[in-house]
Amino acid sequence: MHEMSIVAGVLDAVTPSAEQAGATRVLAITLLVGDMTEVVDEALSFAFEALTEGTICEGARLVVNKVHPASVCFACGNEFDHDRFHRACPACGSYETQLTRGRELEIESIEVDLPE
Ligand SMILES: [Zn+2]
Repeated sequence: MHEMSIVAGVLDAVTPSAEQAGATRVLAITLLVGDMTEVVDEALSFAFEALTEGTICEGARLVVNKVHPASVCFACGNEFDHDRFHRACPACGSYETQLTRGRELEIESIEVDLPE
């Protein structure tokens, strides 16, 4: 499952930095996920719950901020938002476009509990 390896990668990045900061618990992890990645939210939550069990991240809130895709047109320079299936330029009809947003898969922020 795609989402399992994504979550495993996120935890590999989050866990050592939380521990380095002296955190006792991770409270929330916010991800930036582009629509073009075809990540399924439910599968992501499921993977997160399964993989955080017994770790510093157990019980943390997983927040997923979706990024709506956008492209730029090489023919006329138009920049436009679109959905996952329609990437033709709405101004000139060209298919020679390049995605500028929508493939993000990043950790936006983490929130930890620090001892007093
Ligand atoms: Zn165009």
